[in-house]
Amino acid sequence: MSTPRVAARALLVNATELLRRPGTERDIDIQISADTLGLADVRFHADDEISVTVHLESLIDGIVVLGSVDVPWHGACRRCLKPLDEHTVSDVDELYQTVVTNPDAFEIISDQLDLLPMVRELALLDAPEAPLCEPDCAGLCPVCGMDLNTGTCTCEAPVLPSVWDVLDQLKGVLPAESDGGPDTN
Ligand SMILES: [Zn+2]
Ligand SMILES: [Zn+2]
Repeated sequence: MSTPRVAARALLVNATELLRRPGTERDIDIQISADTLGLADVRFHADDEISVTVHLESLIDGIVVLGSVDVPWHGACRRCLKPLDEHTVSDVDELYQTVVTNPDAFEIISDQLDLLPMVRELALLDAPEAPLCEPDCAGLCPVCGMDLNTGTCTCEAPVLPSVWDVLDQLKGVLPAESDGGPDTN
């Protein structure tokens, strides 16, 4: 039995050097396990590895973070229910600021960039909630449940009763219209 891991609650990058001189650059390439995100979300499995590959460059009023985040996700095709184990590569283009003046910027606290909120945001946003196995997945037959990607069945498409059928059925249930009612013409 493996010992339970304690997920890190932050993904900190020391930015002291970067903040000292605008124009300073640094590359970050780290792997974290998905449980670090601390998300109770069926799309992410605790043991999955998330790759964060970013380039940092300091400006006068902050640090620009450019690169990508590779997040594995799991789900089922919304049409044919086939299990899917895929991953999404999200582009990163973020700004971190010591004094936040840009409403979209993340805050730099104690000369440290915490990349975790950014990774969490991208994972939640870009991993699909209702994925498709293929853009043109044919789905399942609504009658017999056959996977129509693998062949065709002989079921007739279910026909919804027309409004006339419904009226015909009601005729037998409702009292017949009285003859000799007021003639509007
Ligand atoms: Zn499908
Ligand atoms: Zn069928």
